Amino acid sequence: MKTFYIETFGCQMNVHDSEKVIGTLLAQGYSQVETPEDAELVLYNTCSIRDKAEQKVFHRLDQFKRHHEGKVIGVLGCVAQQEGEHIFERAPHVSLVAGSASYTKLPEMLVQLEAGNRRVTGLSLDTDATFDTPYTRRDNPHRAYITIIEGCDKSCAYCVVPFTRGPERSRTSESVLDEARGLAAQGYTEIQLLGQNVNSYRDPSERGWDFARLLRAVGEIDGIRRVRFTTSHPRDFVKDIIDAIDENPALCNHVHLPVQSGSSAVLERMQRLYTRGEYMRRIEWIKNAKRNIALTTDIIVGFPGETEAEFQETLDLLDEVGYDSLFSFKYSRRPNTAALALADQVSEEEKGRRLTVLQERQRAIQIRRNAELVGAIEDTMVEGYNHATGQWIGRTSQNRTLNFTHAVVPTPNGQTLVGGYLPVRVTRAGPNSLAGEVVL
Ligand code: SAM
Ligand code: SF4
Repeated sequence: MKTFYIETFGCQMNVHDSEKVIGTLLAQGYSQVETPEDAELVLYNTCSIRDKAEQKVFHRLDQFKRHHEGKVIGVLGCVAQQEGEHIFERAPHVSLVAGSASYTKLPEMLVQLEAGNRRVTGLSLDTDATFDTPYTRRDNPHRAYITIIEGCDKSCAYCVVPFTRGPERSRTSESVLDEARGLAAQGYTEIQLLGQNVNSYRDPSERGWDFARLLRAVGEIDGIRRVRFTTSHPRDFVKDIIDAIDENPALCNHVHLPVQSGSSAVLERMQRLYTRGEYMRRIEWIKNAKRNIALTTDIIVGFPGETEAEFQETLDLLDEVGYDSLFSFKYSRRPNTAALALADQVSEEEKGRRLTVLQERQRAIQIRRNAELVGAIEDTMVEGYNHATGQWIGRTSQNRTLNFTHAVVPTPNGQTLVGGYLPVRVTRAGPNSLAGEVVL
């Protein structure tokens, strides 16, 4: 029996790619082990969105420099695509380098490795195919990811994704719906539709569906109680998506709409293709919806040339929108990107200061936003049990963590609430989560 170990870095797209890679390896007769020491084939599915993520991978590879006898080591994902064959120079004990656009060829690459080839590559971005495989080993028995579009056709000045994941390729609506129906039949109740920019989804079949149409259809599948989607791009986000959410409670009342900056001048330098005003129009649609839709975002601080006044505009935007949560990052210089040519780099120290100021401002907003929910009854999906606090861990449709008490506790014979949905009354709110009690 051939054994493999895989470690995944980065976003949900990578996590889901790994699920597909694992499924493919199992179908080829491999078995998965828990540690790299126990494995014959060691795979790293890598992320290169920021320099730190990339360094982590090389650190892992360094650990194998001396003790790799009998092992085949492979680098998959975004660092593989970005660095290509340079990885063999930097880490000569690596035998496989393959980007996500080549995973359809994984079985052939495995055959080459098994034949003893020590320089196997899959680096072409020249593909119309999406990595659509019948072999997916999913991690979670209740919530499943489905890729609807791969790659990205935007060219944000800071971002490596168009270089590491190639041009946009949408899957047919029929294959997305088949996968979703199959998951519902297996007992999955939550589906997350994935893509770097799901809003630019366009069904390549005769139907020609746009994203909102696909979203509606997935929301109508029997047995699917929750549908989420990520990531949206403000330029391609249309009001019909909000209308769809208003029509069907199975579509979660949460939109992640990355803004990156509150300054139109910075947005222009970032080549984001919208102004602050255009972004705020989309926020108005969301706020005017019938349902109470949670809003989250991504922010980059210290983009080249960002002045103190421009940074202040981002802080003002946080107040104006009142985000329920956000991811914030210090700008990181990435290979091949347009922003490398921009002058006026912001110092690391100043980026750090801005990040702290931004996170403190957001913390205060979150405390206020979460407190508004005290007294509300939320439909809550049970995700686990925390033995230390004696609380069940739940998630609301708005994607908030809601920990709650219940007379039922897990037992050694397997009694559990995990995977079910319960009404929970919110009794307390903190900056990052809510607490409550089940309503019986
Ligand atoms: N496609 C999505 C989008 O358009 O928002 C996600 C792209 S990326 C995986 C997630 C986030 O990482 C981005 O929204 C951005 O805030 C951040 N990011 C991307 N490149 C970055 C860079 N060079 N430095 C810092 N943050 C970056
Ligand atoms: Fe990167 Fe921009 Fe594409 Fe998102 S939309 S993946 S930030 S280039």
